[in-house]
Amino acid sequence: MKIKKICVYCGSSSGKNPVYSLAATSLAKDLCARGISLVYGGAAVGVMGAVADAVLAAGGEAIGVIPKSLAIKEVAHDSLSELHVVASMHERKAMMAELADGFIALPGGWGTLEEIFEMLTWAQLGFHEKPCGLLNIDGYYDGLIAFLDNAFEQQFVNELYRPILLMAREPNALLDQFAVYQAPKVRKWMGEDEL
Ligand code: AMP
Repeated sequence: MKIKKICVYCGSSSGKNPVYSLAATSLAKDLCARGISLVYGGAAVGVMGAVADAVLAAGGEAIGVIPKSLAIKEVAHDSLSELHVVASMHERKAMMAELADGFIALPGGWGTLEEIFEMLTWAQLGFHEKPCGLLNIDGYYDGLIAFLDNAFEQQFVNELYRPILLMAREPNALLDQFAVYQAPKVRKWMGEDEL
């Protein structure tokens, strides 16, 4: 499937190290160079603001989806190509998932983790076949990757689903993987003997 829009989940904070916002800028440029639009949470703050600003500066399309309660706290970006103001966080996540052809997590906190893990869970259940990836900037996700290795080892996540989560240390390497991604033909609810 040709990827036209990618949803980027990332921190509403900037993090301790400027390397995270720099990575957001670099991802934005690489998306624009490939003619891929950005779908994201619509905020002007943190790494979220950095990725949107860089897409707009590069002449790309940035589509925000933000719940009303956050928009009125004035964190909404005011110069996006499109801003959808929705009723709830659930509506926001559903719309972002629907609009995008793939999902990337840049460094972020609980919100970022929750959003990318929801997409992984849906992929494992076969609710979508879109690529999901971690951008492991400056080793930020090393601890999470080690945790996940243990989750496979302890058989809480079946090894068969490992290919569902793509990983790279820089944006173009991840986007190259997205371009050729084929969802594994496995479903969580299948018995082992049906696989
Ligand atoms: P976090 O990683 O905890 O900073 O949360 C970032 C993610 O959660 C983003 O991808 C947003 O969709 C959502 N989010 C959390 N906090 C905010 C906020 N203040 N403004 C907009 N979106 C937010």
